[in-house]
Amino acid sequence: MKRKEIMSNTAVTDELLEALDYEHYWNGLSTPMRDDVNPLSKEEKIEKIRSHFKSIMETLGMDLNDDSLQETPLRVAKMYVNEVFKGLDADNKPAIKLFKNGYKYKEMLVERDITVYSYCEHHFVPIIGKAHVAYISNGNVIGLSKINRLVEYYSKRPQVQERLNEQIARALIEVLKTEDVAVIIDAEHLCVKSRGIQDTASSTVTASYHGKFKNETTRKEFLTYINLNA
Ligand SMILES: [Zn+2]
Repeated sequence: MKRKEIMSNTAVTDELLEALDYEHYWNGLSTPMRDDVNPLSKEEKIEKIRSHFKSIMETLGMDLNDDSLQETPLRVAKMYVNEVFKGLDADNKPAIKLFKNGYKYKEMLVERDITVYSYCEHHFVPIIGKAHVAYISNGNVIGLSKINRLVEYYSKRPQVQERLNEQIARALIEVLKTEDVAVIIDAEHLCVKSRGIQDTASSTVTASYHGKFKNETTRKEFLTYINLNA
């Protein structure tokens, strides 16, 4: 199975998972986490990362006595734990309240152009893009900003785009109690743009369609709203 075929696949089937595993690229819906260590406190994590990052900089030959560099290890450690990787801490998962759909709105709801700032787990450099999310309510709705919060939560982890895409979709299916969910992410990977092949023009599109979005007409309607050709 070629990569393109994987991307256009609509459901997470055993075949798809096997194909992705075969590529040694992505092999699960969950972020790989250690379960053999006691969870450290935030402060302990920051201290540990600070000291390791200091070693990395020193190994690169940098003089940490310089005013400009002195605080960098601590700054990076705080940024990792409190900001860019805060989605690794389940305590930061947004609490989402479900409302009854009082307007009896039965059409598709689309929220497009949700900003995605994530990190490639293979190179630890940014993935920057947009997520487009749609669902069809089965009687329940959530606050619109909660969709942004869910996208943000799963983005703030070292990620591969396929997994990020699927994690957002699964989370929405869970909170909205409907399978009728679609998520598309269009993102640029700095590991592709700023190093390696240095392709500054390309972006990567991933999609996951569930429930009614497996239907071509429904999917096309969604793609029309977000201005992507079906
Ligand atoms: Zn990468």
